[in-house]
Amino acid sequence: MHEISIAGAIVDAVIDTAKKNNAQKVEEVFIEIGELTALNTHQLKFIFDTITRGTVAEGAKYNIKVINPLIECNRCHYEGRIEYFGKLHFFLPVIKCPACNETNVDVIAGRECCIRKIKIS
Ligand SMILES: [Zn+2]
Repeated sequence: MHEISIAGAIVDAVIDTAKKNNAQKVEEVFIEIGELTALNTHQLKFIFDTITRGTVAEGAKYNIKVINPLIECNRCHYEGRIEYFGKLHFFLPVIKCPACNETNVDVIAGRECCIRKIKIS
């Protein structure tokens, strides 16, 4: 359950930004989350709703965009999507090249967790 600490950090940043801009209310928050973070977006939204009670961000709408993982292979220079391992609800932390099975790959996308935009009023 690392959702709680991450949601807390996001909410802190949102409230901080809202205050700096003299916002009355945070209307909408746009967030991008890489699939490799294995964050549960439903849990995140639930935590956002809970911990923003009584703050300027109470009742804000959360748009969470999940970013697909992209890798670059250090052996065959394949660049693109990865293959999924294991079962539906389980994500093995092993990432390898779908073209040559090399595990020495660079992750170009899929590990981000950032706030893209905040709509205030
Ligand atoms: Zn490869």
